[in-house]
Amino acid sequence: MKTVSLEQELNPWEAQAARFDFAAQKLNLSEGLWKILRHPSREIIVYIPVAMDDGRLEVFTGFRVQHSIARGPAKGGVRYSPDVTLDEIRALASWMTWKCAVVNIPFGGAKGGIIVDPKKLSLAELEKLTRRYTAELIEFIGPEKDVPAPDMNTNEQTMAWMMDTYSMHMRQTVTAVVTGKPINIGGSRGRREATGRGVMIVCEEALKKLALRRENTRVIIQGFGNVGSNAAKLMADIGYKIIGIAEVDGSLYNPRGINIDDLLEYKDRNKTIVGFTGAEPHNSRELLVTDCDILIPAATENVITSQNASDIKAKVICEGANGPTTAAADEILAEKKVFVIPDILANAGGVTASYFEWVQDRQGYFWTERVVNEQLEFILRESFEEVVRYSETHSVNNRIAAYMLAINRVAHTIRVRGIYA
Ligand code: GLU
Repeated sequence: MKTVSLEQELNPWEAQAARFDFAAQKLNLSEGLWKILRHPSREIIVYIPVAMDDGRLEVFTGFRVQHSIARGPAKGGVRYSPDVTLDEIRALASWMTWKCAVVNIPFGGAKGGIIVDPKKLSLAELEKLTRRYTAELIEFIGPEKDVPAPDMNTNEQTMAWMMDTYSMHMRQTVTAVVTGKPINIGGSRGRREATGRGVMIVCEEALKKLALRRENTRVIIQGFGNVGSNAAKLMADIGYKIIGIAEVDGSLYNPRGINIDDLLEYKDRNKTIVGFTGAEPHNSRELLVTDCDILIPAATENVITSQNASDIKAKVICEGANGPTTAAADEILAEKKVFVIPDILANAGGVTASYFEWVQDRQGYFWTERVVNEQLEFILRESFEEVVRYSETHSVNNRIAAYMLAINRVAHTIRVRGIYA
């Protein structure tokens, strides 16, 4: 791939486009389809007025990008962060298209975001912000159009407010408009843990592939939010040794293994992992390049870059986050023969369980947690196998294989449907 500046390397849209271009070229994708899929189909910018608790009026900027609706309704989370940019949401929206296609569920891709630091808002302000954002998007979302879900700094409560706002406008309860809701208002059992469970399932498959035993497998996880903490818990429960956890405010390291149940309890009480006595404090940046078998970046973009990729010691990288590895780092990791489970496969457990939630809401019939988990495991194992087989038969790395599989599926749908004029 071509050389780029660090600024370009760290732009998520460029990171997405670099892999897309490479995979599309390998597929011999026609120029027309290449043009269609390289661009989002719709980008919406909204300016959201909120009456703050102190009486001031504030205006926040929000986005919703729908990359593709070729295979079904657009699907993807909404994130609240001061760092949100349109380019980031664009990249994340197209990653959702590829992710849904890799696991072969009938959705397109979308993503939303609001430029806001949610820690600085009261609960009442967050509710107003969420409701007005939803109202501004009212004609663009819906069970058959675009189905939002949680992402960074949004959760089940955010989805409950979105569902309620949409329902008030429709004058009827429409549970299927968002996924990741609380279970008692149309959410799915198993959805909260699903992304972390998916990470565990694909790590299990990778171990089989590499003939490693989980009892001897040391894991370092970056990020202890929904994805990282659930992956840590589920993996520790079946015998993996979690030796390091990195968070924004500090990291923990214990080569004998961290007791995850104790850590979860500690974090629940203290709202941070810092100060936990069952491990040594560690430097977050160093933890990424500390010796381990599996490294799970489960926080945010641009964690593994051209600056640190050559120092990574892990045999396997399992991307719980979206876009944690830059395109330049891909090449370094490939040279080092690191087995990468790419984000659009590794973290697809969340959207797969979202698909189950959407199906259950539309059926009005709710599955047991066992059924949800079994179906999730079935889909992720199959998808893992498909990606690895594709990578072997086409002599490309796992990420490019996943992109090729996904692009092929979406392109096929567009070809068969034709272009409406
Ligand atoms: N935000 C999650 C993701 O990036 C879940 C999306 C969804 O469930 O729609 O995959």
